[in-house]
Amino acid sequence: MGYNLSNLLYLITIVTFILALRFLSNPAHARRGNQVGAIGMLLAIVVTWIKTGGTSWWALVLGMAIGGGFGAVAARRVKMTAMPQMVALFNGVGGGAAALISLAELHRILPDPGRPKVDIGLAIVLSGLIGAISFAGSMVAFAKLQELIGGRPITYVGQQFVNAALFLAIAVAGAALVAGVQDEWLLWVLTAGAAVFGVLFVLPIGGADMPVVISLLNAFTGLAVALGGFELESNVLIVSGMLVGASGTLLTLMMGRAMNRSITNVLFGAFGQVSASAAAVAAGDGGGSVRSATAEDIAVMLAYAHKVVFVPGYGLAVAQAQHDVRQLADLLEEKGVEVSYAIHPVAGRMPGHMNVLLAEANVPYPQLKEMDEANPEFARTDVAVVVGANDVVNPDARNNQGSPIYGMPILNVDDAQTVVVLKRSMNPGFAGIENPLFYNPKTVMLFGDAKESIVKLAQDVKTL
Ligand code: NDP
Repeated sequence: MGYNLSNLLYLITIVTFILALRFLSNPAHARRGNQVGAIGMLLAIVVTWIKTGGTSWWALVLGMAIGGGFGAVAARRVKMTAMPQMVALFNGVGGGAAALISLAELHRILPDPGRPKVDIGLAIVLSGLIGAISFAGSMVAFAKLQELIGGRPITYVGQQFVNAALFLAIAVAGAALVAGVQDEWLLWVLTAGAAVFGVLFVLPIGGADMPVVISLLNAFTGLAVALGGFELESNVLIVSGMLVGASGTLLTLMMGRAMNRSITNVLFGAFGQVSASAAAVAAGDGGGSVRSATAEDIAVMLAYAHKVVFVPGYGLAVAQAQHDVRQLADLLEEKGVEVSYAIHPVAGRMPGHMNVLLAEANVPYPQLKEMDEANPEFARTDVAVVVGANDVVNPDARNNQGSPIYGMPILNVDDAQTVVVLKRSMNPGFAGIENPLFYNPKTVMLFGDAKESIVKLAQDVKTL
């Protein structure tokens, strides 16, 4: 294949990746975004395969069969609640691939005297370093989310010092390579050291912060892949790597902002460590009384309301109650009730978690209201139904300066006439803190699994 033709086809690939990101930014077109990106990726693989003259074609086919087969089965089988760990796994192998490229490149060019030149040497060192950190860090994130290891932050005295010393040693090895020390084993040591650093870096971060970490490691992978592109002189790798790097960085910052926490606090704050004691406090006496009601009473409330807003949270994902919520909403609409859904940007355990779940249940897209649009609406809402959400509706974020989540933007459900909270117990949410909403005289609790509670509510609404 000619140089110009292959470059043109690569350019088309790049355009498909950019279009894919564009489509992915909106839940209504996200599926199309995935398809466009997949077609672009296939094109890139075919062009590369033809360009290299079909050498080792069997290796490519074997690799695609193993990787594609695993990806297809995993994508079909994985539950929505397990999506963050699947992303971690996929991201990790991307970082690992970038590290392997740098090892292979150095092996290929080292026999030439005076090679690698400084620029390529730097790219090789950085892609090996960043790729290995991303690989190992993502594997720890996967293990924490899959509960193969405990989700609590693992800390010990002198931890930051150990991490800094290790990083310094890796940096010295990298500097030696860039300065022209022609030793392949140095890159192996550097890569192994970076992998250990990746593990040590992620261990002290709490399990529930893993989506932020994965997003950051995703940015790392993108950067490592782009550097791999420099080594291989591949524009398509450079551009796609930078797209991943830039979007991962933006996503990390946006998640931090939505939780009102700095990225430094997420990475080094060991958030979640105090949750055991805070949980005990929260589960105890809240200093007020809690009102609980029966499904029949709440069904009456809902059926005779003008406007009902559902507020989904992590518990909705755990209970897989999205289809039942949709059915209840349909019943209410048949009775003339205006229904919408208020979506907090970090409700659940990964960005867009609630949008994806509700889209799966075919909730009409116009009914999904982002926080800024939803908040002014609560004042004219008769019943806000909080389905397995906790932190994202905690008024302490507005009112209590001493709260760890003070300043986090929340959904102001307490502006509604009545708040119904569906959860199993008085246990706290991810932040491990008490929620005064549950003690608000406007609030009634319906204890139980969210799916079971919603099904009961729907049955009772039907009889009215
Ligand atoms: P929370 O974790 O605050 O609360 C979830 C609630 O769901 C719990 O209080 C739990 O109570 C309840 N629950 C769990 N299982 C069930 C079930 N089967 N049926 C009914 N209820 C259930 O979730 P939110 O969505 O409100 O908040 C998300 C939190 O995660 C925020 O603190 C956010 O900062 C954090 N976070 C979000 C990220 C993101 O990207 N989205 C990334 C990292 C962190 P009970 O046990 O009593 O049932």
